[in-house]
Amino acid sequence: MTETILLVVACALVDVDGRVLLAQRPEGKKLAGMWEFPGGKVEGGERPEAALIRELDEELGITTWESCLAPLTFASHAYDDFHLLMPLFVCRRFEGRPEGREGQALKWVRPRDMRDLPMPPADEPLVATLIDLI
Ligand code: C5P
Repeated sequence: MTETILLVVACALVDVDGRVLLAQRPEGKKLAGMWEFPGGKVEGGERPEAALIRELDEELGITTWESCLAPLTFASHAYDDFHLLMPLFVCRRFEGRPEGREGQALKWVRPRDMRDLPMPPADEPLVATLIDLI
């Protein structure tokens, strides 16, 4: 059996107070109600940084630039039906005020407080790296 690999790119958007933006997966989606790092699927032929810039615009209505994306860590998680590979970038400079363009709730959270929120199993292990950074 060939395992399906899904490449998703995610972002820790950091505000001036050191809080990080999380988005809640909406009803009707897999893992509904869980708080995740914003981002999305990398499309065929796309570079991860370009995919992330596109997703942040589509999902949150914000603009950022490749020079403002710093790779931080990487999730590799086997879900039942696919294997998720997910690089996490940190972004401290962006234009616009994030809003949930796809109906998702948003929340600015201190990394240490993320442990109290339900997060997708791929996202959860990334929090420790973020706590060390911020
Ligand atoms: O957001 P979307 O549904 O396109 O993501 C595809 C899959 O990747 C989700 O079903 C979820 O299992 C996983 N995912 C994740 N953590 C994220 C984003 C997506 O585990 N931050």
